[in-house]
Amino acid sequence: METRPDGAPLMVCKYCILSEMGHCRKERPLEHEPRYLQSANGVRLRLVFDCQRCEMQVWENA
Ligand SMILES: [Zn+2]
Repeated sequence: METRPDGAPLMVCKYCILSEMGHCRKERPLEHEPRYLQSANGVRLRLVFDCQRCEMQVWENA
């Protein structure tokens, strides 16, 4: 049986899409940003940005 520790993100990206859009928090701290991602199968995923390291975490169970 697979168990994942509570509070672990589904996925961590080594870049943030904010940076890709030119909206990285390091340059534009209060910029509007996407919070959620709708996946193809209708699951809503929550996005958390850590621009200190420019990482993006993807969480399920938003
Ligand atoms: Zn960033």
